[in-house]
Amino acid sequence: MNYYSLNGNAPKVSFKAAVINGIAPDRGLYFPSEIDPLPATFFDTIETLSNHEIAFRAIHQFVKEDLTDSALKEILSQVLDFDFPVVPIDDSTGTLELFHGPTMAFKDVGARFMAQCLGYFSKNTRNEVTVLVATSGDTGGAVANGFLGVEGVQVVILYPDGKVSDIQERQLTTLGQNITALKVAGTFDDCQKMVKTAFLDEALLEHMKLTSANSINVARWLPQLFYFLFAYKQAKKEGKEIVFSVPSGNFGNICAGMVAYKLGMPVKHFVAATNANDTVPKFMKTGAYEPKPSTATISNAMDVGDPSNFVRIRHLFQNDHGLLEQMLSSYSFTDDQTREAMKSIYKNGEYIADPHGAVGYLGLKKYVSEHPNTYGIFLETAHPVKFLDVVEDALGISPDIPPQIQKVLGKEKHAKPIVSYDELKAHLLE
Ligand SMILES: *Cc1c(COP(=O)(O)O)cnc(C)c1O
Repeated sequence: MNYYSLNGNAPKVSFKAAVINGIAPDRGLYFPSEIDPLPATFFDTIETLSNHEIAFRAIHQFVKEDLTDSALKEILSQVLDFDFPVVPIDDSTGTLELFHGPTMAFKDVGARFMAQCLGYFSKNTRNEVTVLVATSGDTGGAVANGFLGVEGVQVVILYPDGKVSDIQERQLTTLGQNITALKVAGTFDDCQKMVKTAFLDEALLEHMKLTSANSINVARWLPQLFYFLFAYKQAKKEGKEIVFSVPSGNFGNICAGMVAYKLGMPVKHFVAATNANDTVPKFMKTGAYEPKPSTATISNAMDVGDPSNFVRIRHLFQNDHGLLEQMLSSYSFTDDQTREAMKSIYKNGEYIADPHGAVGYLGLKKYVSEHPNTYGIFLETAHPVKFLDVVEDALGISPDIPPQIQKVLGKEKHAKPIVSYDELKAHLLE
């Protein structure tokens, strides 16, 4: 399997090179050269397979030239060591809980898979790779945890000082070892700008191999397709066509779900639910893609004005708006609607949804109101305690703090303050 650049101006590369490069030299996203459907028997018998077997068979074709079968199995057993339950919400709705991993964000799977792959590729070489990542909160914790102690990989995380929650800050500043946190006097956009500058700084790149750990990287993006297969395995018994609603920011998660569909997974439709950042809902309506600066919301992990993976989605449907529309609807919701949804989910079944999951719920309800007789699954992408203030404010209750989070609460934060790109560069060259 090769990977080509969606900008069409760079050589095809192996999985290994795509993971190490992150983005193609022409600044395009890498895309697999083929997606071969899995045999129908795989889906007919999926309920008899373990999650490890499902994941192995689903991702094998994308990585097989660069990971031996035993290496892939070993990686998957480390990555998938927690549950992915579909929890019933009502008769025709379930929520796929993706927050049972070490940092309680769905990004744990992708971050760990990418970390294990990079660790494997840098074994027996003397070439260190530096992962440089900007975070508005959740990515940083998942990346820090996933890469902790991986040999041959240094991780530098930039976050906006004072703009991430205390829990999120502790998750990325208390680990030590190969993880360094830099707190930037500025916004998330400032952090991201510094990271982009570094990736284009030729003088810097002569001294080090830099890669990113966001969902642009194929090793973080593709493993997310497992979620949809795990959900299908559980929801198949409902005997109805399945609709997935995915709370979306950079659209990596939903795009991976669409790869699962291309692998042959039976699914009726996908809903991309967004907060006020409505670039894609607008595009679906008008056909014009008009990126804009992001707007701050209570579902802040989705505050993205120019979703990086949407080009992959369009490509999956041959850039044909008509074809895309048959499989994708997209709706945007306000913070008030999100809080109302959290209240009504709680009132109906005492289920506590986080604000991102609640946006997914709203998208699902909007679609199924016009398409009854389906089984709807919305993805719950973070544990509600990660957005404690929003949950307390909307529901007037405090969810229990789970052990994964309690573990970091007592630890001391270590972060180096920086104000400019020059300081970042000096730190990287140290
Ligand atoms: C990152 C994130 C999202 C958005 O996922 P994308 O793949 O970027 O669309 C949604 N919810 C939470 C909690 C996240 O951390």
